[in-house]
This record gives sequence, structure tokens and C-alpha cells, in this order.
Amino acid sequence: MRPALQVSGLTKRFGQTHAVDALDLTFAPGSFTSLLGPSGCGKSTTLQMIAGLIPPDLGTVTVDGSDMTHVSPERRPISLVFQKPLLFPHLTVEQNIGFGLRMQHVPRAVIADSVAEMLEQVRLTGLGGRRPHELSGGQEQRVALARALVLRPAVLLLDEPFSQLDATLRIEMRRLVRELHDSTGVSTVFVTHDQDEAVDIADEIVLMLDGRVEAQGSPERLFEAPPTLATARFLGVANELFGHAHAGGFRLAGTDLATDSGAVRGEAVLTIRPEAVELPARSATRHALIVESVRFAGTFLAATGRTVDGQLMTLHLPVGAPLVVGEAIEVGLPADRCSVFARGTA
Ligand code: ATP
Repeated sequence: MRPALQVSGLTKRFGQTHAVDALDLTFAPGSFTSLLGPSGCGKSTTLQMIAGLIPPDLGTVTVDGSDMTHVSPERRPISLVFQKPLLFPHLTVEQNIGFGLRMQHVPRAVIADSVAEMLEQVRLTGLGGRRPHELSGGQEQRVALARALVLRPAVLLLDEPFSQLDATLRIEMRRLVRELHDSTGVSTVFVTHDQDEAVDIADEIVLMLDGRVEAQGSPERLFEAPPTLATARFLGVANELFGHAHAGGFRLAGTDLATDSGAVRGEAVLTIRPEAVELPARSATRHALIVESVRFAGTFLAATGRTVDGQLMTLHLPVGAPLVVGEAIEVGLPADRCSVFARGTA
């Protein structure tokens, strides 16, 4: 199947800054991808090059097999929604949504039908006659979404569209975007620096660091088996335990764990998510800890324990887990939830 969107060798420098560095990405038709990364890693620059707002220094942008690299933004079958809705203040909601269609000289009756349909889809029916200053922030962003989708783009780009909204509204808007994606099938690229948002909304995550792709995969895969230590760190894997990787596994504080250390040998770091640590241990891979702290965290117990060589491990356990500060416990470290990386790789 032809990709909906493909960027090859996409590169942009601003002076000495490599904002985007030879980026290769392929987006399947109907995909929902989150471009995730810390501030300044090049996410917005990438989107703007895809949309045609910034010319790349090198590389190409292809939509559904057609080279768009030198096509002007308004002629690309791509819609971009920004952090701020950027509505025309003097136009009504309906006029804002229909603006792009009017520019394309679509007949009035067709515009009216399309706008009414979009108003319903973004749940703004009845507000078509209002002007932007009469809307809440969430409603304004709904208008921006409707204005983008009414053009039936091949690709929808969203650049941190909900970062200015409060937490509850953000979640509601994510649901809406996901629904709109699922009903229209538009290939969607959603930029965010918030890992929870990326996991919640996307089928695929592209993690960008320093203008490059650091990792790519389903949220589950990136969380459970981060391919690099930098990925594990960015996604918030709390436990990093230093030890020694060898052909049979990983030696941690004098105990051999039968983990898959891949090709890593010598000084290494083992990562495991706090919720993956088992008590009681069910897996054969076990380790002794002295419980150092226990805190009730609402739906789970957040505890820490120390290995005999003084390293701290965080555990998230079901409420009621038998934990007494100062006592020894044996936890399970399931091999398939552990990742091993060479030291000094992040
Ligand atoms: P944020 O989440 O903060 O928006 P980002 O990941 O979208 O960050 P970009 O805005 O793409 O990152 O910026 C990437 C790098 O390029 C940054 O170092 C930024 O300072 C730099 N940069 C972006 N635009 C320009 C510009 N017009 N002139 C100079 N440097 C720029």
C-alpha cells in the first residue's frame, strides 16, 4: 500500500542548530502517529516542513505518492492545526469553517452542507453564528479542527493543539480527535511533548530527540521494550540499575538475573518499570531488597527498596502488599520486562 505521507532525508538548520537532521518517516493511510519529544527537538519544524510553511534545506515530502516538496502550502492536501486556533475574529464560526472551501470556489449550497456536517461532528451545532470571542478555548479549538477537516485533507497535522486547555478538557478533546480520525480515516500526525498524551491518543509513536528519530513503535512496545536508554528515560522508566551484562544475563548486586542482555557486555544498565516488579515474586528471575519506604498512592502502593550494593528500586504494588520498612523482601523481575543497555549510551 502506498504511504499516505513520506518524508525522506528531511533536513533543516537554523544557523548552527540542526533542528531536523535527515529525517526519514513513513505514515500509512489511516494511521494515527504521535510525534513525541522534548521541547526543541524539532517537532514543529518537521510539521511545518510537511505543511510547506518552512522550506527544507534537503529532503522530500511525498503525499500519496506525489512529490509535494516544492508545492505551496495551500495546494497541499494537508491541514495543520496549531496550538492557538488562529480563527478570523470578524467571521462567524460557520464562515471560519467554510473559509477554505470558499477559496476553492465550492458552490455555496455545498459549503453550507459541509459546514453543518462538520459542526455536528465537532459538537458545535447551534453555535455556527457566533464569533470567536464568544467561544471558550475548547470551542475555538473545535472550530479550528472543523476548519481543517472540512477540506477533506489526505493528512491532518496537529501541533500541540490542546496544550493551552485545562487537563479535563484536554482529555475530552483527545477523545474527539480520535473519533474524528476513526470516522474520517484521515492520516493524522499529532505533535506533543507529553508522553501520556501520546500514549492515550496514538497507535504509533515516533520519539524525536535532537532532530532525529530516537525510537519508533507502538506505545506498548516503546514502554515495555524501549530500544534505547534515552527512550527509556524519556518515557519515564524509573528504575535504572547498574550491573554487569554477560552472555547468560545480568549480574545485579551479586545475583545473576536470567535477562536477555542482547549483544551488551560488561558495565551496563538494566531498566524495569516500577509496576513490572513483582511481590510476591512469580518469575524465576528474583532479587533481594530491603524495604526503605512505602507510600499510599491512591490506587497502588509506591515503595522503594535497596539492593545489597545500595541501589534504589521503585516498586508499584497493589494496595495491601505485605511491605514493612526495614524488612527483607524478594521481588520478581520478569525477564521480558527488563531491558539492558550499555552504560554511557544516553
Ligand atoms: P517545542 O515543543 O518547544 O515547540 P519543538 O520540538 O517543536 O519544540 P522546534 O520548534 O522544531 O522544536 O525547534 C527545533 C530547534 O530549532 C530548536 O533548537 C529551536 O530553537 C530552533 N528553531 C526553530 N525555529 C527557529 C527559527 N526560526 N530560527 C532559529 N532557530 C529556530
